[in-house]
Amino acid sequence: MSLQSFFNPKSVAIIGASRQKGKVGYEILTNLVAGGYEGKIFPVNNKTDEIEGLKCYPDLASIGETPDLVIIIVPAQYVPSVMEECAKVRVKSAIVITAGFKEVGPEGKKLEEQVVQIARRAGIRFIGPNCLGVIAPAHKLNASFGGDLPVPGSIGYISQSGALLAAILDLANANGMGFSSLVSIGNKADVDELDIIRAFGVQKDTKVIAGYLENIADGDGFVREAEEISYTKPILLMKSGSTAAGAKAASSHTGSLAGGDVAYESAFKRAGVIRCDSIKEQFDFAQAFANQPLPEGANVAVLTNAGGPGIMAADAIEERGLTFAKLSEETMKKLAEKLPAAANVHNPVDVLGDALADRYEFALDVVLDDPNVNSVVVLLTPQAMTQAKETAEAVVKVIEQKKKGKPVLACFLGASKVAAGVEILRRGSIPQYDSPESAVATLRVMVDHIRWRTRPRRVVRLFSVNRRKVESILERHLRQGLLDIGEAEAKEIIEAYGFATPRGSIATTAEQAGNIAQQLGFPIVLKIWSPDILHKSDVGGVKVGLKSEQEVKDAFDLMMYRIPKKKPDANILGVLVQEMVRSSGKEVIIGMHRDPHFGPLMMFGMGGIMVEVLKDVAFYLAPLTAEEAKQMLLNTKTYHILKGVRGQEGVDIEAIAEGLQRVSQLVTEFPEIKEMDINPYVVGAPGTTAIAVDARISLEKK
Ligand code: ADP
Ligand code: MG
Repeated sequence: MSLQSFFNPKSVAIIGASRQKGKVGYEILTNLVAGGYEGKIFPVNNKTDEIEGLKCYPDLASIGETPDLVIIIVPAQYVPSVMEECAKVRVKSAIVITAGFKEVGPEGKKLEEQVVQIARRAGIRFIGPNCLGVIAPAHKLNASFGGDLPVPGSIGYISQSGALLAAILDLANANGMGFSSLVSIGNKADVDELDIIRAFGVQKDTKVIAGYLENIADGDGFVREAEEISYTKPILLMKSGSTAAGAKAASSHTGSLAGGDVAYESAFKRAGVIRCDSIKEQFDFAQAFANQPLPEGANVAVLTNAGGPGIMAADAIEERGLTFAKLSEETMKKLAEKLPAAANVHNPVDVLGDALADRYEFALDVVLDDPNVNSVVVLLTPQAMTQAKETAEAVVKVIEQKKKGKPVLACFLGASKVAAGVEILRRGSIPQYDSPESAVATLRVMVDHIRWRTRPRRVVRLFSVNRRKVESILERHLRQGLLDIGEAEAKEIIEAYGFATPRGSIATTAEQAGNIAQQLGFPIVLKIWSPDILHKSDVGGVKVGLKSEQEVKDAFDLMMYRIPKKKPDANILGVLVQEMVRSSGKEVIIGMHRDPHFGPLMMFGMGGIMVEVLKDVAFYLAPLTAEEAKQMLLNTKTYHILKGVRGQEGVDIEAIAEGLQRVSQLVTEFPEIKEMDINPYVVGAPGTTAIAVDARISLEKK
């Protein structure tokens, strides 16, 4: 069902409308009237006949027609019966403003569930409860108690916090920022963030989707749909809070490092969602996306009437990884013909402190024509002769008349002396920034976004593997209720997915250990084998570099003597006798932690026992493409060590990227794998075989 009646209803009933100033039931009614809403308004209140000159109805049924939208403001305990009333007269859309539901505890939660049930049964979609309402300026609809109706614009806003939305409205109204719609989703008992984002996705007047979210219920759906929408409408989100289930009770390295926000971070990246850290940043970005075309490349030109801010912009361009555009000979020649001799015709183009509007107009026109320029930042400082207002008019004129398809961002520095100019810019849809740095930061995300949109199609490589083998090992473990898979069997699993592991086998006596060692050849590694010991080194359960049969036997006896003392409850089955990997390679970790909302989250980092100390790790959602696997490597400092520093030979980077993709395939094909680590994965020089020296896997019942 379309959510259009929430934004453009032909009639609105307000159940719980009030005559009393200061009450929400009064504020919403008067906001609706003050906003100039042109549809029918039906206040419902059984204690009065009239509010603010509008006829009042004792209940929904007595209105005599079905309102397109019903706003519910009655106390929480009456909301279920009001929802029943809505069902009776076949209402399709409602907003429950009332608070006192899930957010107050178990009683409220029950009440909320009751309301959801009634609504679902009747096919009613509702926003809330515990929300501020809905605002749609183009339809003069202010169905909220958040503040005044802002001007119409092309930004659709969604907020999980009503209070924050009120602040945003206030700020937007002060800046004259325009919106297509604003929605406070409250407890999102029925309509959730994805429903609204989807609605914004098809709304004609919404060009940019922005919002504040605390959590996303359907992670998979969000990634899929947001990715689709991001191709045509940029999505800018502030996100607070962290996944509670993230770091909690994680037994693997990956799990304990995957806390906080990493899943959201990679979900946003995959879906092309632009993350904003503050309201200011969000406004900065949103006004550019809403009003300016995307730049075709990273080359930025700067136009200024003073040296200082020009240098600030140049620094910011460098720091943000953009390119300082090199102007063509022709451009510089044209500029030199008309600008004073002292002007700088190289980027940053300095039209000098005495520049009037005409110099800006001329220079902007010429610079925008340069094929080496993808975007322009126009800087202005209010000096003695500066014409802030006229310059703003000139900038708007160039853009409107020439329509060059390149973004132009303004930064008029100062306050009262540039205010008239800033107002002209705003009306002319030229984004204005309070610092060169903010303008450049905005260009950076625009460039990133166009790169995201034009990136090659994602192709996930499928390796030929022995899926059957893994199936049978997992099935056996699940059947026996064994959720932790130790080194020996975890290695059988990853071998089936193409990993090489050290040769070795299991021994239950010192004699047997010695014999196996003889067959494998020395040096030898001995490791404790117990389903109850996850981190073997922690209990002295790993002995490397054993050089003779006698050493192996002694090490066996020592482990069997010491470890039961440290871990009296552990069921010790024996030891793993393993060949020692004598690689000059580096130890890295490949891991996966299944996020409850977004699914398998892959991890890469420097391995061995230092991983949790250094925390130099990168995460990304599976399934990984080759490109994404490599990007994960690039996102760590470890990468530089692996590549080889100061004459040291580098290791086989491709082998690591392939290992990541193979694990990604494994965990995508087996959703019962909850977490896993290959740590260490020992990688040597290119051409040598990388070896998975240790692995562990934990399962969950599906
Ligand atoms: P755990 O992580 O349970 O403590 P590991 O099997 O990872 O146990 O062993 C700990 C460390 O011992 C590894 O990080 C690695 O440096 C070294 N090691 C273990 N097995 C071998 C092996 N077969 N060859 C070389 N080094 C090994
Ligand atoms: Mg290990």
